[in-house]
Order: sequence, then structure tokens, then C-alpha cells
Amino acid sequence: MECFKLDSFDKGDYQKAVEQENLARNIVEVLYPNDNHYAGKELRLKQQYFFISASVQAAVAKYMRKHDDIRKFHEKVTFQLNDTHPTVAIAELMRILMDDYYLTWEEAWEVTTKTCAYTNHTIMAEALEKWPIELFSRLLPRIYQIVEEINRRFLEQVARRYPGNHQKIAKMAIIYDGQVKMAHLAIVAGYSVNGVARLHTEILKNQELKDFYEMMPEKFNNKTNGITQRRFLLHGNPLLASWVSNHVGNDWITDLSKISGLKIYADDEKAQREFMNIKYQNKVRLAKYILEHNGIQVDPRSIFDVQVKRLHEYKRQLLNILHIMHLYNVLKDHPETDFYPRTFIFGAKAAAGYVNAKLTIKLINAVADVVNNDPAIGGRIKVVFIEDYKVSNAEWIFAAADVSEQISTASKEASGTGNMKFMLNGAITLGTMDGANVEIVEEVGAENAVIFGLSSDEVIQYENYGGYNPMEIFNNDPDIRRVLMQLINGTFAPYDTELFRPLYNSLLNTQSTSRADMYFILKDFKPYAEAQKRIEAFYRDEKAWARSAILNVAGSGKFSSDRTIQEYVDDIWHLDRVVLPKAKDKVKLF
Ligand SMILES: *Cc1c(COP(=O)(O)O)cnc(C)c1O
Repeated sequence: MECFKLDSFDKGDYQKAVEQENLARNIVEVLYPNDNHYAGKELRLKQQYFFISASVQAAVAKYMRKHDDIRKFHEKVTFQLNDTHPTVAIAELMRILMDDYYLTWEEAWEVTTKTCAYTNHTIMAEALEKWPIELFSRLLPRIYQIVEEINRRFLEQVARRYPGNHQKIAKMAIIYDGQVKMAHLAIVAGYSVNGVARLHTEILKNQELKDFYEMMPEKFNNKTNGITQRRFLLHGNPLLASWVSNHVGNDWITDLSKISGLKIYADDEKAQREFMNIKYQNKVRLAKYILEHNGIQVDPRSIFDVQVKRLHEYKRQLLNILHIMHLYNVLKDHPETDFYPRTFIFGAKAAAGYVNAKLTIKLINAVADVVNNDPAIGGRIKVVFIEDYKVSNAEWIFAAADVSEQISTASKEASGTGNMKFMLNGAITLGTMDGANVEIVEEVGAENAVIFGLSSDEVIQYENYGGYNPMEIFNNDPDIRRVLMQLINGTFAPYDTELFRPLYNSLLNTQSTSRADMYFILKDFKPYAEAQKRIEAFYRDEKAWARSAILNVAGSGKFSSDRTIQEYVDDIWHLDRVVLPKAKDKVKLF
């Protein structure tokens, strides 16, 4: 490859040399910041191929340094394709095996399909990469040729299995309707296909990837995600970490299942007081951060109700803020309402160009400006949007949370991992039966979480057969109608009454091409408001709350990434454990 044209530089053609270098630099310079959305940009495909080609070449070269038979590559190497982004590795490995090592197609296919495995991270159609043939074949002609042949042979198999069934071909083809479908490539070539939470894997098998599951059920398996307790408890919440170690020892640091030993302290009033005191100190720590960064005074005795995650319509930050607008209306109308003070904390980043996501952040801040400064509600609601949400400030946020908002439209959140970080830090989940929330509830018990809303089956039913009309709810529910009208009457944007119109439209009418209220926000609004009342009543019973919070910490053992990784090792990669030499012998190694 030509990188930096020294000859043109020598000739004094500085401009041309710089252009060449900038082109090369461009490939590695920016990471596309989208989340659960695919932009279809040429530079993105260039980046994917650049990094994958380098990685596959490096893996093959490393293997060949110690081995001589490339036909046994899969005995030493697995490529676990983490989403569709690296799936071009399948064709790149085929290319190297055939073009550089002169394997036949059949030999190369045998090695490739024993090397590659695929992890699916979403069922949202807009997130699954589908490259236009024109772009893909122009950029990667040899790779496209290989994908075409994989597709041709696969469709032959499909036709043999389902003779005359053109529907199957249309639904399962890797190349169809002018597009290269990377998820289909990964499923066809992968020896394992896994989802990242039990519900998600079941939806893959029974809905989204049903045809593939029926044809190759043995490939499908689940690996529920996890998080590391070393970062999200030991490092992020040192007070709680010491408290845990004082009660159950410190084996939990490397074996989180040991944290279940805390269960016997859930009813211990001394332990409950200690736990609540630690939570309070963590809330003071976060309150200081908020005062410094937002200039907002929040009361650490209030309920810290937190939703931190990427901003996406399916995650329904809009449901949360609409409900806050409703609570504000209630307190304005009835100042005498017995209301337990609440601090609503948001953190999120929106992808560039995701208009409704940016607008939701704008709405959260606009509501915060009004609510935080209205003496009529006596500071009983505070709203904070923490800027620059990232792992470093996330540690402080999880440690200080009382309530973990996990309110995605059921079926849309593949797993979630934020939900696990909150649980580990003793927050109580307020959520839908979606993603790993299902398994969190199973581990901690339904009485120690607050669950509401449509089930994934109900959502899928509405999506497939219709029957949901948000306008009906708007017409019949005055609380909801009032909140929605406040989006377009300048209550929170007197300087521009049309500012939030697109959010209103997304819920009610279809100025846009998509279905109104795609994410069932109005459908789940009242059940959510009712669930929030249950949270308040629960929190008022301090002992019951502390007991439940301790049980959440104690029940979080399953959600260590150590467990997840061990499952990949045992069930997909089939690796033997390497026994490390004793510590005293280690020095010799280095
Ligand atoms: C854990 C984490 C996420 C993922 O959160 P979800 O609630 O699972 O979407 C995103 N960003 C940061 C900084 C995190 O720490």
C-alpha cells in the first residue's frame, strides 16, 4: 500500500503528499459515535475493513510463527465477532486462506466456519448493517466476490431444504435487494450465534432470526452480559466495598457469587443503618459534584432517581421527563400533596444528527430550568442533567443512586449493563420486563424491584398486528393531554413555542413517515406513574427499603463479567484453563 508519497514530496509537491497522508489518517481518526443505529457511511466501511484486515493478517502471521498447517488455524484461534461491525473478517479470512495460502474454497470454508462465532447485540432493524452493493463492491471487490459465493452456496442449501420457497430466500439471503446483510453473513459463517440476555436470545430464536434458528438450531445460545465488580464496586464505591468485605470477606472481588453471603444481613437493623449511611455519604459526594458542575443544589436526603445511558428513543428518557412534567403539574395544582422529595438525575450522550435525541436533552434541561427555580414547589423536585456522561463520573452516579431507571420499551433493550451496575450498588430497579431486567428480577425476587408496563409479547403483538392508537389515550387522559400540550404551548420554551413540536409529533401524529408513538410511551405512561408511586411508598419505609437494597447487592452475583466470560470459554471457545505458575516462580518468566 502507498502511504506517503515521498517522490512527490521530493518534487516539491507538498500539497499532494499531505493529501495522501490525510486520507490515510482519516481512516483511523474518528469513531462513529452512533449507538444502535447504522449510518451507512463509506468511511465507516473503510475503517472496518482496515482494522479487520490488519487484525486477521496479524492473527494468521502469529499462528504461522509457531505452527505449520494453516488448515488447523481454528484449533488455536477463535474470532468472536462482537456485533456486525467486524463481520467482514469472515470474507477476509477466506481471502487470505485462498489467495495467500492456496487453500481450496472447501478447505478455506471449513477453517473459517470453525474460527468465527457471532454475538448479536440488538434486534433493532436500523442497527443491523446493510451495505449497498454498489459501495461494498466498489470498495472491496475481492471481498464482495467472496461474499457473493458464500451467498450463492448458502442459497443452494436453503433451496434444497425448502424447495420452491422463495419467501425463505428473500428473508435469509446475505445479498438481497441491492444490499449486503452483515448479520446474515455472520449467522451463516459463524459456528455459534448468541444473544446477550435470555429474553433477547429467545426473541432472536422465535422472532427476528426464526428462519435461521429453524435451519440451524444448534448454533444458537445465550450469554447474559455482565459487568466487572472490580470497577463498579471496589473502585467506584469504596465505602460499600469495605462494608461488603467486613460482612462476607473479600473473596467477592474475584468471585462475585460470594456476595450472596450478605443475604443474612438484610434484616439486621444495624446493617440496614450502616448501608443507608453509606448510601447517604455517596449521595453527598454526588451532590457536591452536581453543585460544582451544574450549579444546582440538591438535597442528599431526597430520593436519587437516576437514568444514565445513551440517549435513544427506545430507552424512553422522554417517558421519564414527561412524568416529571406531570409531577410538577400535580405539585403546582396541589401544593399540599404529601410528596417525598425527589432528585431526578439524567446523563446521556446523543449521536450527532439524532434530532429527537438532542431535542430530548434540550427538553430535560428546559424542564430543569423551570422546575429547579420555581419557589412554588419548595425544592421538592430537582432535575439534573449531568454533562459528559462517561465511566469515570458514572462510578459516582451508580454509587449514589436509590432508584435505577430501566424503562426501555419491552423487547428493545438486548441486555443493558447499567441495570447491573446499579443493582451492585444497592439501587432498586424501576423497570420494564426487558433485557437483563428479567434476570435481575429473577435473582433478587419480584418484591425487591418495581416492574411496570407492556410485556415484550404485547409489544411484538402490537407491532405485528396493530391495535394501538396513542390518540385514544391523548383524548381520554387529561393528565397526559396536559403534559403533551405543554410541549407545544411554550411552558418550557417561551422563547420558541415550536421547539419541542417534533417530540409531540413523534407521539401523536405522523408528520414523519413512522408510526405514531413507536415506543409505546403513552401506553406505558400511567403504569409508570403508578410504579413511581410504589417507589415513593416503598422508600418511606426506610427499613423495608434498606432490606431490599441490601438484597439487591446480595443478589447481583450472577451479573459479574467473570461469569459471562467463563461461559464463553466453556460453551463457545472450549478452552482449557491455563494454570499460572506460583507467584514465587513468576519472576523467572519476565
Ligand atoms: C454501563 C454504561 C453504559 C451502558 O448503559 P445501559 O444503561 O446498559 O445502556 C453506557 N455508558 C456508560 C458510560 C456506562 O458506564
